[in-house]
Amino acid sequence: MAKLLKLVCFSLLALTVVGCGRKEAQTAACIANMKQLQTAAELYVTQKGKQNSTPTLKDLCGGPDKFIKVDLTCPKDGSHYQISRGVDGFEIKCGSGDPEHVLP
Ligand SMILES: [Zn+2]
Repeated sequence: MAKLLKLVCFSLLALTVVGCGRKEAQTAACIANMKQLQTAAELYVTQKGKQNSTPTLKDLCGGPDKFIKVDLTCPKDGSHYQISRGVDGFEIKCGSGDPEHVLP
């Protein structure tokens, strides 16, 4: 019985650790996505000579001729990113609304 209890405890602990790691991995992946979008947005306006425009997600990703070939969405819930112009370059926001999904 004690052995079984130990096993259950260990499983719960393992689950907790895995659960945490997954959330952190999602946050890290989301931030990496946003950095890619930020870089792509800067490249886009420079290369297209559209310094005063704000590219949309469709301008930047999801096609063979785009800076990012795949559609980037938040790994947490698949929500889309919003690109806006900040004081100092582009600001990318994650649509999931997770407070940890922000560019540092
Ligand atoms: Zn996100």
